[in-house]
Amino acid sequence: MGGVARGWPPAELVSRPRIRRRGGSDTPLPFALAPQRQGPLTVLCLGAHADDIEIGCGGTVLRLLAAYPKTDCHWVVFSGGGGPRDDEARKGAELFLGRAGRRQVVVHAFHDGFFPYEGGEIKNAFEALAGAVEPDVIFTHTRHDRHQDHRLISDLTWQTFRSHLILEYEVPKYDGDLGVPNVFVPLTAAVVRAKIRHLGAAFGSQRRKRWFTADTFHGLLRLRGVESGAPHGLAEAFYSRKALVSFWS
Ligand SMILES: [Zn+2]
Repeated sequence: MGGVARGWPPAELVSRPRIRRRGGSDTPLPFALAPQRQGPLTVLCLGAHADDIEIGCGGTVLRLLAAYPKTDCHWVVFSGGGGPRDDEARKGAELFLGRAGRRQVVVHAFHDGFFPYEGGEIKNAFEALAGAVEPDVIFTHTRHDRHQDHRLISDLTWQTFRSHLILEYEVPKYDGDLGVPNVFVPLTAAVVRAKIRHLGAAFGSQRRKRWFTADTFHGLLRLRGVESGAPHGLAEAFYSRKALVSFWS
């Protein structure tokens, strides 16, 4: 996509008016995600594998849909289609998108672990997506993720969507590639419980993996909550490489 896209400017990190900061609080100045045009917010969630989106931004999706229940959600998983993980991918989307206004779930069948070698076909899928969706905010893998499939999805996100707010999520794993994120979404304990419950309910095939445990997910959310001074001590974290700031006036 080149030039100025429909819907420009995208949803931005918008400063909130009349922010009251409690004395002595170390909570950073908050920003709000808000639609910038008429109609519901449009969200695009991208993940290489079934469970990536849910692990990376599931709590944020639950929180966002509670705030904006008419949100139009597009959910694209790039592997697992037609195989045993197809049902899991769709179950995960169903659980996390329960409050969406509209939803479109796509599960592609690209070869897990081989994305860089199927890059042309995956890029074609992104080009088709760009013609079909005009998102306000995109959630995708972070650029420095060491998993080759994750990294390709991140790169193609930036190649395809060039006038959009992109928030890159993190996925804990053996590679040990977690970094220092710079955008945080505070979550309540109830949302965190729902996220972890949904992960367990949707992804039965992953529960035998040593890392796929409730304490892995809770531990990372707790750590990001500490780093962001989140009110309930829990947060999901993202990387924003470009964001516009506007002001209510
Ligand atoms: Zn993955």
